[in-house]
Amino acid sequence: MGKVLIIGAGGVGTVVAHKMASLPEVFTEIMLASRTKNKCDAIANKIGNNRVQTAQVDADNVPELVELINSYKPDIVVNVALPYQDLTIMDACLETKTAYLDTANYEPIDEAKFEYKWQWAYQDRYKEAGITAILGCGFDPGVTSIYTAYAAKHHFDEIQYLDIVDCNGGDHGKAFATNFNPEINIREVTQKGKYWENGQWVETEPHEIHKPLNYPNIGDRESYVIYHEELESLVKNYPSIKRARFWMTFGQEYLTHLRVIQNIGMAGIEPIMYEGKEIVPIQFLKAVLPNPGDLGENYTGETSIGCRIKGLKDGQEKTYYVYNNCKHQDAFNETGTQGVSYTTGVPATIGAMMYLQGIWKKPGVFNVEEFDPDPFMEQLNKLGLPWHELHNVDLEL
Ligand code: NDP
Repeated sequence: MGKVLIIGAGGVGTVVAHKMASLPEVFTEIMLASRTKNKCDAIANKIGNNRVQTAQVDADNVPELVELINSYKPDIVVNVALPYQDLTIMDACLETKTAYLDTANYEPIDEAKFEYKWQWAYQDRYKEAGITAILGCGFDPGVTSIYTAYAAKHHFDEIQYLDIVDCNGGDHGKAFATNFNPEINIREVTQKGKYWENGQWVETEPHEIHKPLNYPNIGDRESYVIYHEELESLVKNYPSIKRARFWMTFGQEYLTHLRVIQNIGMAGIEPIMYEGKEIVPIQFLKAVLPNPGDLGENYTGETSIGCRIKGLKDGQEKTYYVYNNCKHQDAFNETGTQGVSYTTGVPATIGAMMYLQGIWKKPGVFNVEEFDPDPFMEQLNKLGLPWHELHNVDLEL
């Protein structure tokens, strides 16, 4: 059916390549390109059968990207490199009139601030060029946004309160490790908290608001309000929302390590001089931390991510909880990576499938909740991330 170019050969890229390779009727040809080609080769060799071609590309460099896209001619580019590369890859897709999909919104490298404004600014140019950009198609953002769209379509006339709850109830056996790129992860969880209430953003100190929430099959876990990017598009696309928050669980051990890392300056994003060479502390830290893509082997437990929603249906107040639980070991057995990479890579694969099947295909730049959620929800059940719903339960919030 179509040709895809995946950019980025980390934990998420590994899952995307595996999943796409297992769907030959949709992804007829696959190329995996990244900064370090031997990482692409290792993934392609593991998949075997010459299903995946590989290439080297510096995704910060638009002419290099354009050259690769022009020579391979993919129908869609799936960006699972880092958020820093979103705009250069969007530029290259625009120049070559190729569809674009990513899982995380753009963030300038010198400022830990993620917002959609930079990518939404491409709307007119993508529309005029007649090409599609699908933004934020991982789990959160991604599936959480699609859950919200599905709830709005089938279960509510008006969504009023949205709480996205993200629990990693797994144990990787390391003293400290992050589940996806350490630099991006630490930048995200150490920034100030922010949530939407009554038409405006309310800022909090990092991890200021917290409470235990009960997660299916996992139990009670202390959960913290942090800012997460899907809140920005969801409150725009669902203006009836009075309050929208994002909760993430952290263990005490993780928070203690994080505090020490910050206090000693290792989370710094400004370059410093070390023995005559400029280094960025958080990038050096990444080099010494465990590689998130390698955590899978001894990872036990599961993730549980979902949306807890309150609103009105037929004039009555109702609650709704839709979620997925994913076991790290199942993810590892299938793709060789842990659950967090898996829960991101599978939705990216489905998003690209939706595009190639012509279901999610319209000119412009879109967040995933702006498409029909039903065919995507159907594929989640088929491709390893089944979802469950509870109606009129206590949301604890
Ligand atoms: P990794 O750090 O494991 O992988 C990133 C990959 O991108 C690496 O292969 C890296 O190359 C490559 N890369 C980085 N810079 C460039 C560049 N300039 N040119 C070409 N390739 C480059 O990250 P993850 O796989 O954990 O995460 C991938 C993306 O998924 C991130 O954007 C992350 O924010 C997002 N994500 C989204 C989630 C969601 O639910 N929406 C959840 C988790 C992650 P090299 O190997 O040489 O370093």
